[in-house]
Amino acid sequence: MNSVHYEALEGILGATRISEKADDLQIYGKDWTRSTPKPSAVVFPKTTDEVSKIMKYCHKNKIKVVPSGGRTGLAGAANASHEELVISLEKMDRIINIDPINMSIRAEAGAITESLHKAAKDQGLFYPVDLAAKGSCQLGGNIATNAGGLKLIRYGGTREQVLGLEVVLADGTVLDLNYDLRKNNIGYDLKHLFIGSEGTLGIVTQATMKLATLPKELRLTCMACPDFESVTKLLGLVNLRGIHPTAFEFFTQECLDLVLKHQKHRINPFQEKSPIYTLLEFEKQPEGSLDPMEPFLEEAFERGLISDAVIATNSTEFQNLWGFRENISESVAIEGNVRKNDISLPISSLPAFINEMEVVLKKIQGVQMFLFGHIGDGNLHLNYVGDFKQDYTEFRAVTRATEEEVFKLVQKYRGSISAEHGIGVLKKADLHFCLAPEGLELQKRIKRAFDPDNLLNPGKIFDL
Ligand SMILES: Cc1cc2nc3c(=O)[nH]c(=O)nc-3n(C[C@H](O)[C@H](O)[C@H](O)COP(=O)(O)OP(=O)(O)OC[C@H]3O[C@@H](n4cnc5c(N)ncnc54)[C@H](O)[C@@H]3O)c2cc1C
Repeated sequence: MNSVHYEALEGILGATRISEKADDLQIYGKDWTRSTPKPSAVVFPKTTDEVSKIMKYCHKNKIKVVPSGGRTGLAGAANASHEELVISLEKMDRIINIDPINMSIRAEAGAITESLHKAAKDQGLFYPVDLAAKGSCQLGGNIATNAGGLKLIRYGGTREQVLGLEVVLADGTVLDLNYDLRKNNIGYDLKHLFIGSEGTLGIVTQATMKLATLPKELRLTCMACPDFESVTKLLGLVNLRGIHPTAFEFFTQECLDLVLKHQKHRINPFQEKSPIYTLLEFEKQPEGSLDPMEPFLEEAFERGLISDAVIATNSTEFQNLWGFRENISESVAIEGNVRKNDISLPISSLPAFINEMEVVLKKIQGVQMFLFGHIGDGNLHLNYVGDFKQDYTEFRAVTRATEEEVFKLVQKYRGSISAEHGIGVLKKADLHFCLAPEGLELQKRIKRAFDPDNLLNPGKIFDL
């Protein structure tokens, strides 16, 4: 970085909270995706005032910035490859308060998601945004990506939890939005614009999030299903029988085999192989009422929707079953070159969509497919995995044609090419499959209104 800028930022933060060390540039210049990090420097503010001062300086000097959270993003949205200044929020990780009357938790943006879970639990409450990256991702990153996760079916995603938001704009202005109110009709709800904006409209510095009551004991079953139609019918049965799932997830036999291959300690509770497995989790019924688990499974067997089922009877079995679902992404990353698709469809269209998609996927050669996801939300993760020995560009060329065909199907069924991971840089070229040109132009106009100099995370979501 230019020495004048370096010294000015050092003046705001002190010598220890700005870095140009090669290691730091590598680490903080990228997320989970493949990319070549090339930031100019990394800064580590500790307060909103510091973030504001940094942005005022960057605004005056037209310095481009990339806000950085836990860097677990899967769309390249936190990548800094063009000499941007990375603003890491990791030193702003305080839990500010927990309010059992308002049922809310306020924290700084750099608080790790799992620390919100822990802080809420210590007070006998529950923070419901739950994802496999929870040990590394941050509240600000979750808000900027509108993270979904495992419990969305019951509690909603990140957007549904945000009660109040503090953001720093491109010119350093601090906005304090919604004052943690449950009801507030004062025109456009600005906080929603920042949620899911991938750091392109402002830097989240604090937020107040809704809490829920701590779930009573959870019941968990993993069911073997013959096909996708059965999985969606199973979800219908769950709804009809009045079961309120806290999670309804799925993964294929290939995913189960992959996790077992890379995690030797896991125990496969199934004797026979099955095309698909569905995890259903729900809260235990109040004392005295009938546990719906056995009658539900019996009915599902009778209707031919499942061929086998295991019920977790203790915490070890509970973790073992969840482990099959939660460790797919990590196992896939060890297996080879990965291209991730994160699509969502109207839930009722899933069987028809998947039938057509399977025809498309059969055409691809030399690439393994892993299909899993939050099927209760209509969200499928389709991971293409190639051999590490194969050159990545070649691997992408092979997968690209199939990917485009899949996206055309997504468009046909009125789905989305990004259910929860965001657009970042990786999916910019595919935005047109689910957003009309008029919609994209409006998004660009909003960006220009907030950040006319295109300083905040430029080149993410779309190019201006
Ligand atoms: C194993 C694994 C499992 C995952 N499972 C899920 C899942 O189930 N559901 C899901 O939705 N995602 C999932 N993800 C993706 C990822 O964890 C989420 O997108 C997460 O919300 C990113 O948070 P982060 O703090 O790591 O953000 P980063 O990756 O650091 O950044 C993501 C984006 O947010 C911006 N940003 C970060 N902090 C701020 C801030 N304070 N203010 C403004 N902008 C900011 C960045 O500029 C970037 O655009 C998974 C990832 C992994 C690796």
